[in-house]
Amino acid sequence: MSMQKNAVVYMDNNATTRVAPEVLEAMLPYLSEYYGNPSSMHTFGGQVGMAIQEARRQVAALLGAEPGEITFTSCGTESDSTAILSALQAFPEKRHIVTTRVEHPAVKSLCENLDRLTGHKHRVTRLKVAGDGTLDLAEYAAALTEDTAIVSVMWANNETGVIFPIAEMARMARERGILFHTDAVQAVGKVPINLKELEVDFLSLSGHKLHAPKGVGVLYVRRGTLFVPFLLGGHQEKGRRGGTENVASIVALGRACDLAAEKMKDENTRVKALRDRLEEGLLAAIPQSMLNGHKTERLPNTSNISFEYVEGEAILLHMNRYNICASSGSACTSGSLEPSHVLRAMGVPFTAAHGSIRYSLSIYNTEEEVDFVLEKMPEIIASLRQMSPFWKGN
Ligand SMILES: *Cc1c(COP(=O)(O)O)cnc(C)c1O
Repeated sequence: MSMQKNAVVYMDNNATTRVAPEVLEAMLPYLSEYYGNPSSMHTFGGQVGMAIQEARRQVAALLGAEPGEITFTSCGTESDSTAILSALQAFPEKRHIVTTRVEHPAVKSLCENLDRLTGHKHRVTRLKVAGDGTLDLAEYAAALTEDTAIVSVMWANNETGVIFPIAEMARMARERGILFHTDAVQAVGKVPINLKELEVDFLSLSGHKLHAPKGVGVLYVRRGTLFVPFLLGGHQEKGRRGGTENVASIVALGRACDLAAEKMKDENTRVKALRDRLEEGLLAAIPQSMLNGHKTERLPNTSNISFEYVEGEAILLHMNRYNICASSGSACTSGSLEPSHVLRAMGVPFTAAHGSIRYSLSIYNTEEEVDFVLEKMPEIIASLRQMSPFWKGN
């Protein structure tokens, strides 16, 4: 099995994705000839404003939302912060928030800093997950109180791909008059989303996880939901977010949503087949390897596998020699020896959490690439295990 020399085998799409060629083509004119300010009175700027409206329509169409419910932001992180802080300011008498133990740092860190940011004492309930990464809805129901201002639960986990029952959870919050936010950054473009059928009040997404550029995101705010802006300034985005718009990236994100709407079903079936081939091949070929996360309630592109008695970063370095890109749940890079908070919350044993690798595929991966990874991984793991003092052989 040979790959083109120096070809990058990119299986780290939950970290970021390549900009689709069609998306790049759509955005380029807004970095060259169409440089007007969309808020200007003249036609030259006005036509740029029209391009933003078209992008808003494209994003709304993918989500089953109305264009007026779409606010462009600078990233998924900003969208998450804006939603949660908006709810806390809209209902200052409510001091409780419900989230999970496996949220992305964008939500996790915010929830850890609420007291400092709002000047009020808040109580945060972090829902537990089972060994397969799923939530317990009875625990969730019990956590919702009169004092709860907002629930923030991710649609799909970035590390394991595990999908949470957002429709049901949003309904349970609505029944009790509690606002519901979902960080859908990993879900948009990978699973169908129809906000018309959901009782979700806020939804976050990010361009660069969806084949648009980095530095652009969206916050969906359901019509009628009380909203308090985060970035104050000019009256861009109907006063919901000050700051001159990142026009080219917004146009790009609109085009990316269009592409996702058009191709999602077929492409995700193909991506899932590739992911399954990779996952089944690795688990069969490598002893003492196991899948992290629910087998079916999962994104079609993500596979998180633990290889016991080896260190994730060492595996990544060896993969890097073949230009294979993935991520690890062991976090020595962050200076801590703790494995990822997601795997810890799932109770993955220490020896397995440290040797976890996340493969996240995209529509650009090929069967040839999967087979290349399947050829290289067994020898990488075997050679590292030879050096491990804990490995007893198998
Ligand atoms: C990447 C990611 C974010 C952050 O998005 P940015 O645009 O990089 O700020 C938030 N949540 C999840 C689940 C993500 O995967």
